[in-house]
Amino acid sequence: MTNEACAGLWSGLRARRVAYVASMLGIPATVPAAMLLSRWIAAPLHFVIPAAAALAVYVAMGKRLIRWPCPRCGRSFSARQDAGRTIPLPSACVHCGLPYEACEW
Ligand SMILES: [Zn+2]
Repeated sequence: MTNEACAGLWSGLRARRVAYVASMLGIPATVPAAMLLSRWIAAPLHFVIPAAAALAVYVAMGKRLIRWPCPRCGRSFSARQDAGRTIPLPSACVHCGLPYEACEW
């Protein structure tokens, strides 16, 4: 497999990981957003609205991340349904052990 093909293969997971981590950073950003919204919206809505939005984005990005299929086994790269656990940023597939960004398998 060429380096370009290999990079393209993993680009979907890489983008989802970046979006997931960025969504985590949005959660503490709700505090300054709430302070700003308190000028126009009464409590507690000025805090509930940005917090709910940040949590919704975080959950959506987490679900999007765990839906990415492993290129070798085709199952979720980061979530095991049978074990009931999810590792958001594993270094290898939780099912078959394929290393993250491996080009040969
Ligand atoms: Zn796998």
